[in-house]
Amino acid sequence: MSNKYGKAKNYINGRLVETMTDRWMPVESPLTGEVIAEVAVSSKEDLDKAVSAAKEAFKTWSKTPIKDRVQVFFRYKTLLEQNMAELSALIQEENGKTLDEARAEIEKSIELTEFAVSLPQLTQGEILEVSKGVECRTEHSALGVVASIVPFNFPSMVPNWTIPNAIALGNTMILKTSELVPLSALKIADLLKQAGLPDGVLNIVHGEKEIVEAICDHPDIEAVSFVGSTKVAKIVYQRATSNLKRCLALGGAKNHLLVLPDANPEMTAANVTASMSGCAGQRCMAASAMVAVGQTDHIIEKMVQEARNVVPGKNLGSVISKAAKERIEGYITQAEKDGAKILLDGRNYQVEGKENGYYVGPTIIDFVTPEMSVAREEIFGPVISIIRSRSLEEAMKIENANPYGNAASVFTQSGGLARYVMENASAGMIGVNIGVPVPREPFSFGGWNESRFGVGDITGKSSIEFWTKLKKMTTKWNPEAGINWMS
Ligand code: NAD
Repeated sequence: MSNKYGKAKNYINGRLVETMTDRWMPVESPLTGEVIAEVAVSSKEDLDKAVSAAKEAFKTWSKTPIKDRVQVFFRYKTLLEQNMAELSALIQEENGKTLDEARAEIEKSIELTEFAVSLPQLTQGEILEVSKGVECRTEHSALGVVASIVPFNFPSMVPNWTIPNAIALGNTMILKTSELVPLSALKIADLLKQAGLPDGVLNIVHGEKEIVEAICDHPDIEAVSFVGSTKVAKIVYQRATSNLKRCLALGGAKNHLLVLPDANPEMTAANVTASMSGCAGQRCMAASAMVAVGQTDHIIEKMVQEARNVVPGKNLGSVISKAAKERIEGYITQAEKDGAKILLDGRNYQVEGKENGYYVGPTIIDFVTPEMSVAREEIFGPVISIIRSRSLEEAMKIENANPYGNAASVFTQSGGLARYVMENASAGMIGVNIGVPVPREPFSFGGWNESRFGVGDITGKSSIEFWTKLKKMTTKWNPEAGINWMS
């Protein structure tokens, strides 16, 4: 069983290739702690090879009409559907999430691909006769070689946030995988090749800091998208833009859910629990802090009952690594020392038969105060911190004071109070009675504040602006138009 996938090599110009460094890192399945593969640690020289392939491929790909380019993605969508079982099993194995969660990830990848095939309908240029016989027109042009740097928590969905749109719009791409989950991305490349994507249009390099820095510095890479922690998002944004590249860097999150006393208890308990524990809390849209306004004990009791039915190894996956398990458990211990009350404790969890896997049970911490680390920092595990507040205004101040801004939700049956939260929460994605308010396509995905650096969102219509540049053309063909101020 050990090392069953062998070496995860770089994928350049349509082939799996050896790195120049011959450095490898083990890839573990967090479900069992077993090593399932080794991943290449690439250097700047490996990136140079990938960029040359992408640069060469750009010459033809960018000149291929968009209606022809998207045909690849029609076929890719079908391949995602046909390979659902294999793809979701691979996601589960390398990331540790449940099979249902892995399937949902592929379903979202399919939806993202559906959006990409609609791009010919969305990217028509504009034309207007601006003066007698004189026309102005606009066209979206591809940028060139672009890069996408991705995190561990969605091995298929996050690469599919960028690959279909950027490539359908005529760019060629370097994808930098997370070294923790490099296998699903190679499967994406394989399916795209089967779908007819020409060699060199998508290239994959694996590795860590060194290769990310090389991407930010490379003179032939025009734009960099990044998804990961805020700490690294800042580094990448600063380094890429200081090299005069276009950059969009999505960072971490600390999503606040505001629960009001009039909220429907069953629906709220079910939604909040699903949001904090789904994907083992390793979603940038996960509920992390719940601000309980006024008398909400009856809802909190229901949440605890609900969360008792979320069982690691059954309907709750593992966290990504030993280090993650230790970090998450460390936060819970700190909260206890700080005087918070642990209503449900997921520490020291072991799954029978998978004793070396990295499991944390759902954890609910009550009477957290805003200055405690569990209230301020991203935990990225199945843990929710409940902060009690006397009024909605006070709750809103708590939400507004957190430096992140991915998502915020309110649970209430009052339209007026919901509207107040929609207006005043400082986050890019807002939910009303929804625990994970991810906008579905064609609405775009992106947070505010320290959850996103750069302009625009990473998916949907907003991404068209990021992956293209606009050419403005003014023409006059008819001498009868004469001389006028446009001459
Ligand atoms: P991470 O920041 O550790 O890693 C992201 C990428 O950066 C990886 O490819 C990694 O190899 C690389 N990297 C790591 N350290 C680096 C360094 N010092 N210099 C250069 N590159 C480096 O993030 P992660 O642990 O893989 O993912 C979890 C984080 O991603 C969480 O904070 C989560 O909130 C965030 N996330 C955000 C969104 C969003 O849309 N805002 C979506 C998914 C995940």
